[in-house]
Amino acid sequence: MSNICFDVISLLPNSFEVLNDMGVISRAIKKKLISINTYDLRDYGEGSYKQVDDVPYGGGSGMVLKPEPIYKAYESIKKSKNKRTLLMSPQGQVIKQKDFVRWSSYDQLIIICGQYEGFDERVRKLADEEVSIGDYVLTGGEIPAITIINGISRLMPGTLGDPDSLKDESHNSQYLEYPHYTRPSSFRGMNVPSILLSGNHKEIKIWRNDEKIRRTLDRRQDLICLEDFKKSPVSKRINKEYNNLMRFRIGNGYDIHRLKKGRDLIIGGIKLEHPNNLGLDGHSDADVLSHSIMDALLGALSLGDIGKYFPPTDEKWKDADSLILLSKVVELIKNKGWFINNIDSVIVAERPKFLPHIDSMKDNISRVINLEKDLIGIKATTNETLGPEGREEGISCHSVVLLEKE
Ligand code: SAH
Repeated sequence: MSNICFDVISLLPNSFEVLNDMGVISRAIKKKLISINTYDLRDYGEGSYKQVDDVPYGGGSGMVLKPEPIYKAYESIKKSKNKRTLLMSPQGQVIKQKDFVRWSSYDQLIIICGQYEGFDERVRKLADEEVSIGDYVLTGGEIPAITIINGISRLMPGTLGDPDSLKDESHNSQYLEYPHYTRPSSFRGMNVPSILLSGNHKEIKIWRNDEKIRRTLDRRQDLICLEDFKKSPVSKRINKEYNNLMRFRIGNGYDIHRLKKGRDLIIGGIKLEHPNNLGLDGHSDADVLSHSIMDALLGALSLGDIGKYFPPTDEKWKDADSLILLSKVVELIKNKGWFINNIDSVIVAERPKFLPHIDSMKDNISRVINLEKDLIGIKATTNETLGPEGREEGISCHSVVLLEKE
């Protein structure tokens, strides 16, 4: 008896003959490591025409495989205790290497292939799993079934000449495989990396491990789970590359200005009236909201703080409109290839009442940074008469931003 038996229900059973011509797989069939039986759906069709399909109820284009022939074919298959039934369908879970590994432990896999528009919904009841080989649609389930048979068969012990070759290969771990080279060492000006010719097995192992990670970062970042990545023994160099590939960055900004008579109270570009005629003191207009957003933006990209770009010693920024400064920072972020995902700010002030002005502040910020209003959060809170804000010595603001790479 073979290690695993594939029983396939299909309208095109001859398609599976191709497996007899696939080197490794045909050897596995000959060595009886695997066996493949096909069940021609036509044999289970109805009436003298052996009908297997019909028009869909409710109308629509194409033909649908009827349930009875598929059920009959399924019931004619001798079942092993340790079996799994797979239904080929572009609506199923997309398979991964780990599925091949999982299925390789069954004694029997029954594979049902659809055709035309697919199968009657009631066929789904037969299946333990509905599986897709990718997010595209083929004419029938035969190529998906052949793919699955091929992928599982090469995992069966005795199928591959060198079972060690399974260990490092792509998709077996979360990484793609490292690059391979064979003789000659120099070919049309392309040289094999010298480390591979060095005979230093320890160094070769490190090089291959680095290349595996680099390749996966370059091509298939989606395969990498950050948790596993952090646990794996990677060199600092690779870690830096990973950081550069990070698509999101968060930033945090804080600013406080002193309240003073004779100054305007400008926040978010809006001029407010303080009951004691207090305003915010500073070199520019001292708009704490705009300042804290600028610091959050700069911080997200480790670009320092606003003092670095608009130093209080520079006369140019005296009484400057902070919304203009903000637009300059946004320009800088954009030029670095990032855009703002959302912003959230909280102003800490005892007085005046902010609520009536929040919407206009959002309008201003939204216009300057070119971000929809509902992606900008602005709140105000008192400090319950505590601390410098509570004693009305000053007004502060905290902001966080999330940046995304273009
Ligand atoms: N109308 C169907 C597609 C039918 S394609 C739908 O939109 O879902 C016909 C048959 O080919 C399917 O029943 C299925 O058995 C097979 N098939 C097509 N693409 C597939 C894929 N990506 N994975 C697995 N099976 C697929």
